[in-house]
Amino acid sequence: MLPDYFEFSLPTRVIYGIGMIDQLSDVVAHYGPRRALLVTDAMLVQAGLAERVKTGFAPTAIDLVAVFDQTPPNSTIKTVEDCAALGRECGCDLIIGLGGGSVLDTAKVANLLMVKGGRVQEHMGAYLLGQTPLLPLFLIPTTAGTGSEVTKVAVIADPDHDVKLPFAETQFLPDLAILDPELTRSLPPKLTAVTGMDALTHAIEAYVDKEWSPAADGLALQAIRLIRDHLLLACAQPDNLPARGAMLTASCLAGIAFSHSMVGMVHGIAHALGGVYHIPHGLANALALPEVMAYNLEARLDRYADIAEALGVAFPRPGAALDSLLRYGGLGGAAPLVKPLRAVDRWFRRKAAKAGVAYIRTLNRQLAHLTGMPLNLREAGISDGLAKLEQVVDTAMTDGSMLYNPREPERAAVADIVRALYATTVKPLPVPAAALRPAGMAAETGKLHHVFPDAEALCRVLGGFFERLKADPQIGGPLQNSRLCVQFVFNQPAATMTIDARGDQVRIYRGAEFTGVPEVTMRMSADFAHAFWHGRINLVSALTRRQVVAKGNVPKTLRLLPILKPAYALYPQHLATIGMADKIMA
Ligand code: NAD
Repeated sequence: MLPDYFEFSLPTRVIYGIGMIDQLSDVVAHYGPRRALLVTDAMLVQAGLAERVKTGFAPTAIDLVAVFDQTPPNSTIKTVEDCAALGRECGCDLIIGLGGGSVLDTAKVANLLMVKGGRVQEHMGAYLLGQTPLLPLFLIPTTAGTGSEVTKVAVIADPDHDVKLPFAETQFLPDLAILDPELTRSLPPKLTAVTGMDALTHAIEAYVDKEWSPAADGLALQAIRLIRDHLLLACAQPDNLPARGAMLTASCLAGIAFSHSMVGMVHGIAHALGGVYHIPHGLANALALPEVMAYNLEARLDRYADIAEALGVAFPRPGAALDSLLRYGGLGGAAPLVKPLRAVDRWFRRKAAKAGVAYIRTLNRQLAHLTGMPLNLREAGISDGLAKLEQVVDTAMTDGSMLYNPREPERAAVADIVRALYATTVKPLPVPAAALRPAGMAAETGKLHHVFPDAEALCRVLGGFFERLKADPQIGGPLQNSRLCVQFVFNQPAATMTIDARGDQVRIYRGAEFTGVPEVTMRMSADFAHAFWHGRINLVSALTRRQVVAKGNVPKTLRLLPILKPAYALYPQHLATIGMADKIMA
C-alpha cells in the first residue's frame, strides 16, 4: 500500500568517514575562497573540536574568520540573534555549524537572519522563504541524535514564554553534511545514550506517523537496526569508532526519514517538557517513547510489529507461510487453513509489537545502568511535584508534531503519560555481555592521523620504501615492465613522490625532483597511503568514495595492484627497520 502522495529530495551532500574532517580539500574546492562563520559551543571549543575543524579547513580556501561559541543546550532566540550579528559584522559568506542539534539549529536560523534580517520570531513558521537562497551551509554533527544535519527544521527556545519555536525551510538543508565519528568520541556516555534515543525516536515516529513515506521507511528501519546493534556499545565503549560511526549514520538516516515523514506525539511531549521544564530533548524522548508506543499500538499494529522485528524480535507468520506454499502449488487441500492461520499471524504481530515496546523499556533501563541516564522526570530534575503539569499538557497539545501522530492525541492521555514519567520507579538494569558484542560490524579500526608529521618525514619513509620495492626480486621486475610513471600527491606539493618506470630502470623522485609529466597522478591523504601500503584499502572503493582522486590512465595503473601484493608485507617490515614499529597498524 502506498500513501496518496509523497516526495523525496535530499540536496545535501552527505559524506562519512573516520577522520573525514582532515580530507576536505577536494570536497569544498568548488566553493572557492570564502569567509566562514564557525558556529559552535564553549564545551566543544574546550574539547578541542573547534580547533580540529579549523585544522581540517586550513588547507582549503575557506577562511574561518569568526567563531561564535556561545550556543547553550536548547539554543535561544537571543543566541541566534547574537550569532547572526557576529556573522554580519565579520562579512561572512558561508556558515559552518559544529555541534549537537542546538548548535546546528542555531547555524540554520542565524543563516536565515543574516540573509533576511529582522527578529527571530518574525520567521517562525513553515516554508516562508519561497525561493530566496540562503548562504552556503556546512553542518558537522558532534552528537548522534538529532539528524539536524539533514533536516529542514530547526527548533529554538523562547525562554520568556517557556516554548520552543519551530522553523521549517527547505533552505535549512545544508550544502554539505560531514559525518566524522571521531568528532563524537568525546561525547560523554549519558549524552551518548539520550541523543541515541532521540535518533531512535525519530526513526520510530517517522515509520508510524500519518505522513509516513515509502521512501523514508527503509531509512527508518535501517536506522533502528543500527541503533539496536550499536547504542549500548557506544555508551559502554566511548572510543569504539565503528560503534560511534554506526550511531552517527543511524542518526543521519533517521533524520532524513523524519524530515520526510515528520514526528509525532513523543516529540510533542518532549518539546513541552523541554520548553516548560528544560528537560534535555533526547532524554524527554527516551522516557516518553515506550509510553507513546503503547498508546499508539493498535492504530499501527503492523508497523509497530515491523519495528519490533527491526529491533530483533523474531516472530512466526504461519498464515503467510502457508499462503505462499499454496500459491506455488506445494500444499493442495490446505486452503481452508489459511484464514484461521491469518488470525494467528495477527495475534503474533500484536505480541511482537508489544515486545517491541518492552524492548524500549528495557533499553532505557540498560542505558541508565551504563550511563546514569535518569529513568523518570524526578531524576531528570523536576522538583516541584509536577506543579506545571497543565502547562506541559497545554503546550504539548498545541505542538505541531501532534498533528502527525497516528492516533489522535487525547488531552487526558497526554496528562497520564507525563504523570507516569514523573511517578515511575523503574530501576536500572545490568546489560548482558552479549548485548555489548559487536554485531556484524565492519573490522575498520579507524584512520591513523598524523603518521607523517611533515612532507620530509613522508618522503623519507615512502621514498625508502619505494626503493625497497624496486630492489625486491618479486616486485622490481614487473614494476619495470609496467613502463608506468605514477605520481602520488599527498595533499601538499612538497609531499609528492613519483615512480617512473619508463626508462631503462625504475626511478624514484621526491617532491620537485621530478620535472616531467606523469602518466597517472593519484591524490590522497598521507594517512590513507599509510593504510594502503598495509594492504588495508580497496583502491577501487577508495576511488568511488573519492578518497583518492586519480588523473590519467587509471585502469592501467590498477593493473599494477596484483604486482604490489607482496609489498603489503614489506611495508610493516620497512617501518620496523627504520624505527617506526609503533606506527605499524595492528
Ligand atoms: P545539544 O546540542 O543541546 O548538546 C548537548 C550537550 O552536549 C552540550 O553541552 C554540548 O556542548 C555537548 N556536546 C555535544 N557534542 C559533544 C561532543 N562531541 N563531546 C562533548 N560534548 C558534546 O544536544 P542535541 O541533543 O544534539 O540537540 C538538542 C537540540 O536539537 C534541541 O534543541 C532539540 O530541540 C533540537 N533538535 C533539532 C532537530 C532538527 O531536526 N533540527 C531534531 C531534533 C532535535
